[in-house]
Amino acid sequence: CGIVGYIGPRDVQPVVVEGLRKLEYRGYDSAGIATVRDGRVFVTKSVGRLQNLEEKLREAGAPAHLGIGHTRWATHGRPSDENAHPHLDCSGRFALVHNGIIENYLSLRAELIARGHRFRSETDTEVVVHLIEELYDGDLAATMRKVASRIRGAYALVVIAADDPETLVAVRKSSPLVIGLGEGEQFVASDIPAVLAYTRRVYVLDDGEMAVVRRAGVEVFHLDGRPVAKQVLEVTWDP
Ligand code: GLU
Repeated sequence: CGIVGYIGPRDVQPVVVEGLRKLEYRGYDSAGIATVRDGRVFVTKSVGRLQNLEEKLREAGAPAHLGIGHTRWATHGRPSDENAHPHLDCSGRFALVHNGIIENYLSLRAELIARGHRFRSETDTEVVVHLIEELYDGDLAATMRKVASRIRGAYALVVIAADDPETLVAVRKSSPLVIGLGEGEQFVASDIPAVLAYTRRVYVLDDGEMAVVRRAGVEVFHLDGRPVAKQVLEVTWDP
């Protein structure tokens, strides 16, 4: 339901939690965050209010500079800690958040289980992160293009990888996503209010677009790989 991502010099955890709080008006049943630090992915999730997540996060360790968070409005699978996003692949190297519905998840799930993948949740979303693991070729953006060609439905996806701690990849199909443009730092969110505390310059992704987000800048592509010359939207209103 709500998505926030960050890469940059700040401690990612408070940026993501505060961003998710700005999206609370959309409603949610659980929340979670994943960060990359020292070549590993760390995930914390909790059913219920953001405050429950924050209580779990109090025990969390050193600051991280790449992360994604999510507030979930369950469509497939009851509200629970396991079904909350972010979701991980089997190896724990990829973390994914998703808004929307993956329509062909049952057939993908059967295919991936047959290939040895073990599922931890009841969500439609989890097939996507196992597909990423299956198709990863060292290039997260190229992998997401292949993943997008295999999934049907409505989705805003944001993924991070332990092997690639300088990149965040976001894909939009029938579910909103914006990129907040900073100086040496970038933000991803499902809606503009989540980034306004940091920047007023945003890219609004269109359907079938993918953003490759790094500290120094953001590149936007069509899902077929063609680059897109995005216009910066200067946000003048306050939420
Ligand atoms: N369909 C996904 C789920 O049920 C995502 C729901 C959402 O958009 O929050 O986990």
